[in-house]
Amino acid sequence: MTPSLTVVGSINMDLVTSTERVPNQGETVLGYDFATYPGGKGANQAVSASRLGAKTNMIGAVGSDAFGQELTETLRENGVVTENVKPVTDIPSGTATIILSDGDNRIIVNPGANHSVTPDYIESCAEVLRSSNVVLMQLEIPLETVEKAAKLAKEGGATVILNPAPIQALPKSLLQWVDIVTPNESEAKTLLNHSPQPILEDKLMITKGSEGVLFYENGKERHIPAYHVEPVDTTGAGDAFNGALAFKLSEGCTKQEAISYANAVAALSVLKSGAQTGLPTQAEVQVFLE
Ligand code: ADP
Repeated sequence: MTPSLTVVGSINMDLVTSTERVPNQGETVLGYDFATYPGGKGANQAVSASRLGAKTNMIGAVGSDAFGQELTETLRENGVVTENVKPVTDIPSGTATIILSDGDNRIIVNPGANHSVTPDYIESCAEVLRSSNVVLMQLEIPLETVEKAAKLAKEGGATVILNPAPIQALPKSLLQWVDIVTPNESEAKTLLNHSPQPILEDKLMITKGSEGVLFYENGKERHIPAYHVEPVDTTGAGDAFNGALAFKLSEGCTKQEAISYANAVAALSVLKSGAQTGLPTQAEVQVFLE
């Protein structure tokens, strides 16, 4: 089977306003910059994998609005297959409204169309899931959808990766279908403290920023160091990592090989600002690793 990777997850437009000062209630202030950036963990991770050369399908939803068109177009321009990116009516595209103010960043996420990625919709994409050898998900779409997709993917023989962000308790009914869980350090703490079902160690792969990655093999803890770089913007490092990890696993690499490669991709991604703009191409990774 040709390696094929499917990402099931969120697609958002990030709306970033920069201001000297955040307004108080009832107050208006002048900002000094505004920009829009395609984002959403699902889309970021799909773009990460696709730029590295993975045949990547995206399953998700956008609104029937200008953002929706732009978001879908951006995925396509990055080589992601968007046949299963559904434009929904009467619901806006997902957005993240971000107020950047010196040392005081505030974010409002409106899931919008991402909430219409329902288990029924996933059922209609069953073929894609069954024909994928790796399926990668996050938690920015409804949990019952993630569970449904994980089940279909696992039944079809895929390796199922869950990046548990934003963090919430993971029920056993979901974990039973998941092979690898990739929290960052703080998500790992929450998971280990609050999940009703303890996560089997051999499913865990914990990303620790500049310290690299902890994972388990045959019951033994293993550590793979990160690459030493001077980061410019670490936003989206986890997304870069997860897309790259999924890509390498879909090619049949071992966990260790996949993590080493994903560390390189994530290190390159922190050298540029922006979650998607900073994602490296296969050629850039090759040069970095030479
Ligand atoms: P998240 O972005 O989800 O919080 P992490 O901060 O753990 O996740 O970063 C994910 C991966 O990105 C790390 O495992 C590492 O490979 C890479 N990374 C992140 N920050 C740095 C850094 N400062 N230097 C080198 N690599 C980094």
